[in-house]
Amino acid sequence: MSFASRLAARNGTNLRSFCIDHFLPFQGVVDGDEETLRRVAALARVDTEALWNTALVKAGQLRWTYRGIELHRTVLRRERIALCPACSLADIEANPGLRPNAAIHGRAAWLLDPLHTCPLHGIPLFLVPKDPTSRRTHDFAHHASVAVPSLAHLAASSVPRDLGSLEIYALSRLAGTAASPLLDPMPLAAAVSQRRTAAASKPSPPDRTPSAACSTSWSKPKGRASATTVPAQPSADCSRSSAQ
Ligand SMILES: [Zn+2]
Repeated sequence: MSFASRLAARNGTNLRSFCIDHFLPFQGVVDGDEETLRRVAALARVDTEALWNTALVKAGQLRWTYRGIELHRTVLRRERIALCPACSLADIEANPGLRPNAAIHGRAAWLLDPLHTCPLHGIPLFLVPKDPTSRRTHDFAHHASVAVPSLAHLAASSVPRDLGSLEIYALSRLAGTAASPLLDPMPLAAAVSQRRTAAASKPSPPDRTPSAACSTSWSKPKGRASATTVPAQPSADCSRSSAQ
């Protein structure tokens, strides 16, 4: 989905308008419909299989798959977009010929609700405020454009931290690597729920800061009281996942 959104931004429009202009079903893009993605790949002249292999695909009610891994709605961010300020700045720097919001590409890991920390930079992910109009929901590049003015400050002011155990576990599952003989046979949502329940039942030492896995410490733009108070601006994968 981020690929189609960035393609729209690269052409100076938003995802919905782009879909209308090219007779693409918007919901097909959102759901990772195979035929729709093939048409998007043809428009962009990119490898169809590469796009398809990194797509988040709707598999049923409240269920998606990513590279064959089942992801329930409870472990996904579907209406809010999180991004790493440092990764985003690197994308912009690496693509000076693109609009900044078209240069930033989504990572599959940023879609994981349990993940609040960039595994590459060890800094908090930035949760982009929800668009009050909801018409731009799922338009990754639009949301990225809201974050762009704050990226440099966010990256410079972020306090590095270690990944929490739940974050490490979720990333392992997304990568398809074995992490726990007990939990791995479960769907990721059930495993995350089990780990959260186990963590909640353990008393925390009074002088210990909660781990990143339980933290609600999200990056905020400078001078803002809360990320959710930032007004949206009009808009013009743990590997690379341009199809998200
Ligand atoms: Zn990063």
